[in-house]
Amino acid sequence: MAAYLISRDGLFDLLTRVTDSYSVFVPVRRGEKRFFTKFEPSSSPEESSKEMENGRYVIGEVRTFEPLKIFYLRSRGIVADGFEDTVTRAEQKPYCIVGAKACDIKGFKVQDRVFRDDEYKDPFYIREREENLIISADCASVIDTCYCLALHVNPYPEESFDINLSEMSAGFVAESGSEKGKRLINENASLFQEAKAEHIAERDEQRKRIAGEVKKNIKANDIPDQDRLKGVIEKNFNAPIWKEEAETCVECGACNMICPTCHCFLMYDQMDAQRMARLRVWDSCMIKDFAQVAGGANPRDHLWMRLRNRFEKKFDYFPKIGDIYACTGCGRCISACPAKIDIRRILKRLVENV
Ligand code: SF4
Ligand code: SF4
Repeated sequence: MAAYLISRDGLFDLLTRVTDSYSVFVPVRRGEKRFFTKFEPSSSPEESSKEMENGRYVIGEVRTFEPLKIFYLRSRGIVADGFEDTVTRAEQKPYCIVGAKACDIKGFKVQDRVFRDDEYKDPFYIREREENLIISADCASVIDTCYCLALHVNPYPEESFDINLSEMSAGFVAESGSEKGKRLINENASLFQEAKAEHIAERDEQRKRIAGEVKKNIKANDIPDQDRLKGVIEKNFNAPIWKEEAETCVECGACNMICPTCHCFLMYDQMDAQRMARLRVWDSCMIKDFAQVAGGANPRDHLWMRLRNRFEKKFDYFPKIGDIYACTGCGRCISACPAKIDIRRILKRLVENV
């Protein structure tokens, strides 16, 4: 894969050009967290570059608060409008998402299987996957909830991106990962120069340093490697761990909403004076009504059964049907849970209990 160097000014020039065809979203820092926000080109690349240096745009750093799936599956979206099959996205242009991290991109493995590659084909998801542009980025820092390496996800994207950026002192090392990415680099060749050996060495050194920090997190929390998770859920099916851990759960569903791999949804119809629409909203397997059927029967009536189901789906069902763990170690559910129910602690307890 050819590697290029693009300066900070050059990147913002590129993003400004890309706004002609895409709605561009870039991570910004607010307090300790990062959020995607719409990129507004400044009057000059120099000004844009300053915005990044001042900490407004944070391409490297670490994952955003919200998962990447928000650009592919709206939390609430119309899927049929007045029985017409031409439903537009919120933004008229496709999205260009900048700074997406490896733990989010790995989520595509699960989402693709559910919405694209299996029997059920979701036209909305497929359209977003085909049309959106992903300019991903290596993690340049780590937060204490990161444990991607335990799930064999490196802290830098290796697939499913159009261009990947590795932030460094001279700007960014850029590599294309698709024809779309290659084309974008070729069409804007004046902004890129060939990366030198010293740039690649700096990138590799940073990757090593970040991986070392994630490993420290894993060690400090004694998080089991995914190789130790095989069969662990089945063996713990009747373990008291589920009841004990579910004790403080308030059934808010935040752990599902924030997760880059969770994909369950609910459909409902809504009517106003003029028309009728069918909507799709994200659903949560932690909520009591999730599995309830007509007549009121519920196979997962107790909260601890629903917590167990969440782990079954991620660590037993998906490895069986898709040879993939439906967790990327992003740590979002740890930060989001108001009851301090920690996936790392549960995995550790499950492994120790077999
Ligand atoms: S289960 Fe938690 S740590 Fe794993 S991918 Fe989902 S939000 Fe991230
Ligand atoms: S975020 Fe925590 S409290 Fe909310 S449903 Fe998930 S486990 Fe329960």
